[in-house]
Amino acid sequence: MRQDIQDLDRAGLEAWCARVGEAPYRATQILAWVHRKRAASFDAMSNLSRTLRARLATDFTLERTTPAFVAVSADGTRKLLFHLPAEHGLRAAAIESVLIPQTDRPDGARDRLTLCISSQAGCGMGCRFCATARMGLVRNLRPSEIVGQVGAGIAVAAPATVTNVVFMGMGEPLANYGPVKTALEILTAEWGYAISPRRITVSTVGLAPAVARLIAETGVNLAVSLSASTDVQRDRLMPVNRRYPLAVLLNACRELPLPRRKRITFEYVLLAGENDADADAHRLVRLLHGLRVKLNLIPFNPFPGAGFAPSPRARILRFQAILRAQGIGATIRESRGQDIQAACGQLAAARPAA
Ligand code: SF4
Repeated sequence: MRQDIQDLDRAGLEAWCARVGEAPYRATQILAWVHRKRAASFDAMSNLSRTLRARLATDFTLERTTPAFVAVSADGTRKLLFHLPAEHGLRAAAIESVLIPQTDRPDGARDRLTLCISSQAGCGMGCRFCATARMGLVRNLRPSEIVGQVGAGIAVAAPATVTNVVFMGMGEPLANYGPVKTALEILTAEWGYAISPRRITVSTVGLAPAVARLIAETGVNLAVSLSASTDVQRDRLMPVNRRYPLAVLLNACRELPLPRRKRITFEYVLLAGENDADADAHRLVRLLHGLRVKLNLIPFNPFPGAGFAPSPRARILRFQAILRAQGIGATIRESRGQDIQAACGQLAAARPAA
């Protein structure tokens, strides 16, 4: 079966070049056609010999990921729904990406356009406050399906520019490490999407060994979903905590070779009466002591059958105030795209009701 050329990193394509008797530099040329110039076919790669183009077409496919549907929220957030066909021995699957315009400027000009992408179809991590968890893990995404969301997101956003990419859609990126790492290479390479690693964030529930690997092997930002201040709480809300309890996770974070001035973002979904008490905020301060952190407080976005309620606004503000008083930079992530089920924790590959 022919492989999608977008699933290969540079080393993989250089190995192919060696096998077919081409010089290694050809790999970079081909990858630039595939990713930077977004050639429609191998035939369009005009500075390659006819023989090489024919050989590429014999060994590889080149198919672009396009959304089946784009839903637009009243607040300007757009959700892209993709149907991934059953091919390369994998199951058909549906995934989602979200384009989120954000502004920090008083004149209302849009400063950032963040693209939130998926790394798996469904998710096997079972976080109880997340709609994706209800799907279970359908399958891992291939590198082509991960970067394909970025290509499609850029096209949907045009003429606006996507400024940031976050791996915070469906799935646990570090449970699909190899394809995510290849996708990161393609997204950051000059021959690829040339996005600065400083503008890419990978969010994880905290698979401790893979966190260390990610930081050692890439220059991207790290976000860790915490959402609890004790192991008892976190065991209940995030089953991954039974494998990597808080002490193990936070020790792994303490040992990361973080560049100077870089911080780890911790995310904390606030659930009324579960993890939003003053005592939780005080415990968090102690847990995060000695770490360079930012804390994102995420108001819970309800979904049918969730069994949780969002914390009242006054509680969220009080929680934030306790953290800030202790020197922790805590921001509240305002919910976006709720009306099209595009908000954080709501992605479940469903078309919004018309
Ligand atoms: S929060 Fe992330 S890791 Fe947890 S179930 Fe949802 S998609 Fe998976």
